[in-house]
Amino acid sequence: MIDTLTEVLIVGAGIGGLTAALSLHHAGIRCALVDRVNELAPLGVGINLQPHAVRELTELGLGDDLEAIGVATAELIHYDRHGNRIWGEPRGLAAGYRWPQYSVHRGELQMVLLRAVRERLGPDAVTTGTVLEGLQEDESADVVVATLRDRATGEVRREPANVVIGADGLYSAVRAHLHPTEGPPVRSGIRMWRGTARRAPFLTGRSMIMAGCNSVAKFVAYPISPTVDGAVTVNWVAEVSTPEDARPADWNAAGRSTRSSRTTRTGTSAGWTCRG
Ligand SMILES: Cc1cc2nc3c(=O)[nH]c(=O)nc-3n(C[C@H](O)[C@H](O)[C@H](O)COP(=O)(O)OP(=O)(O)OC[C@H]3O[C@@H](n4cnc5c(N)ncnc54)[C@H](O)[C@@H]3O)c2cc1C
Repeated sequence: MIDTLTEVLIVGAGIGGLTAALSLHHAGIRCALVDRVNELAPLGVGINLQPHAVRELTELGLGDDLEAIGVATAELIHYDRHGNRIWGEPRGLAAGYRWPQYSVHRGELQMVLLRAVRERLGPDAVTTGTVLEGLQEDESADVVVATLRDRATGEVRREPANVVIGADGLYSAVRAHLHPTEGPPVRSGIRMWRGTARRAPFLTGRSMIMAGCNSVAKFVAYPISPTVDGAVTVNWVAEVSTPEDARPADWNAAGRSTRSSRTTRTGTSAGWTCRG
């Protein structure tokens, strides 16, 4: 529930919003979060936390959780499209940083953050099923009034806050309010198909590989789970240059996967239907 006057209202309970909430709480600043989804579920596949991000989360007391769900990436190797090694570099601790780089499952990371937010800020800190539809700034009263719609009932309410943080993702309503003439995000011209597979560890067992290049097509693979029964979960991404494709990006667009004995999660794409 949101108090009558919230110090900080965070719009979006993704990785950015939840981390901001934990940092504000750590600094003694009261905050509340809203998210449009009815239920926060562990969606997505692999994501990489670089050492500077791991430092922040470690200082928030989440170092053990990251170690439990992630893989401390040791190296990044580039191959050409035929599989010939071009170049490699150490990563994280192996590169001399004081904090590791972790390859993790995005959804599991979000659930770690969500659990910590509910434990520290209270079970009602995140109000789901609530969409930010507008903002009105009243400088004389030092408040921002957020217009929020309950998706289940359609009820619209106005919530005042001292500060509103926009952590509402790619098509941010907060950003659109601040920059009304900016338009939608500019497309990179690359379409990605993403998925995971269970398989034996490869190279060091903590290696990330890239093959090919963005100008035509690129393949990325890295483990995102500890080894269990001789197998790891490998995140894979197939990136294809599709400059003519004008469809908007969407992290949730479903792909069509062909299930093999190794595939445990269906493939998803960012806006295209997978063929085959
Ligand atoms: C479902 C999903 C799957 C993803 N999968 C991957 C992945 O596999 N690999 C990867 O590298 N990156 C992935 N991403 C992107 C990645 O999480 C973000 O780019 C990055 O972590 C930055 O996080 P963020 O918190 O800024 O945004 P996001 O993680 O995108 O979170 C934004 C949140 O804001 C909420 N929201 C949006 N609009 C409103 C609104 N008007 N009112 C209230 N709430 C709103 C959304 O429901 C969402 O929970 C995914 C994002 C999502 C949403």
